[in-house]
Amino acid sequence: MQGLTDKNSRPMEVVNYRQLKEEIEKLKKEKNAVILAHYYQRPEIQDIADFVGDSLELARKATEVDTEIIVFCGVHFMGETAKVLNPSKKVLLPEPKAGCAMADMATKEEVLKLKEKYPNAWVVSYVNTTAEVKTISDICCTSANAVRIIEKIPSEEIIFVPDKGLAYHVSKKVKGKKIIPFEGFCPDHYLFTKNMLLKLKEKYPNAPVGVHPETPPEVQDMADFVGSTSQLLKWATSDQLDAQEVIIITEIGLKYQMEKINPKRKYIFPTPEEGVGYLFCAQMKSVSLEKVYETLKEEKNEITLPSEVIEKAYKPIKRMLELS
Ligand code: SF4
Repeated sequence: MQGLTDKNSRPMEVVNYRQLKEEIEKLKKEKNAVILAHYYQRPEIQDIADFVGDSLELARKATEVDTEIIVFCGVHFMGETAKVLNPSKKVLLPEPKAGCAMADMATKEEVLKLKEKYPNAWVVSYVNTTAEVKTISDICCTSANAVRIIEKIPSEEIIFVPDKGLAYHVSKKVKGKKIIPFEGFCPDHYLFTKNMLLKLKEKYPNAPVGVHPETPPEVQDMADFVGSTSQLLKWATSDQLDAQEVIIITEIGLKYQMEKINPKRKYIFPTPEEGVGYLFCAQMKSVSLEKVYETLKEEKNEITLPSEVIEKAYKPIKRMLELS
């Protein structure tokens, strides 16, 4: 990285965050760029973003963007979704190796095999899938709208790709439909166990429990509230919730927004201090301010997709946005 030094010509590594943020702001204006960030990003990334949201909110935002460049602080499938929704824009991913282990579990070939087995079923793809898998999907969904989408679509049989945790949540909520889950899962959320939650509940007996539907069924069954990232944010920070402390089982990044929105409440997330280890997505956390700066400065790490993939993957995403 050339050029970014402080007034004493110290190298980039020792230039403080404030300067780095100022440089990023300058570049954003010069290059007509917008920064979108997922709630699981580091706090300093959330702070420089023009918009912070969950997968659904970010997909919506990506359709409204009128800048030349979108810097997407998230994992690969999110950048792909932004590209599919904005094919004429330059979508840059500050850490091109940041993938989603769950999205990578479902390949197009495996989903096609399931389609052969259940020819009448609709393929509903969680937005955490590759653009390739989206090309053979009937509709997409996020954890925020999965129940609503599945209730609304005309098919009685649903192949749900790739998250079996979210498939469990949906099958509990939607009556009269057969959900055929793909065997995928989020390694971060799905490794959280019932015993870990029991430990937290014992320590905080008065705290209601909110969990993300990517957690295992037995954890979901113990919760007072099961909801997507944005739904958990709303529930846990609401003045209607009669609690001084609340246990939240999802990625630690969301804590920052909760504390910003309602600092009067205590948010208990899985951490080593609580004796249960972090629920932490290393891929999401691999994006840093330095990487955002370099990516924007050099306009590198652009997401490119074949036009045929963009065209086909657009249909299920558009259907989702219309139905939700
Ligand atoms: S938290 Fe899980 S589902 Fe979300 S990006 Fe990370 S690996 Fe993928």
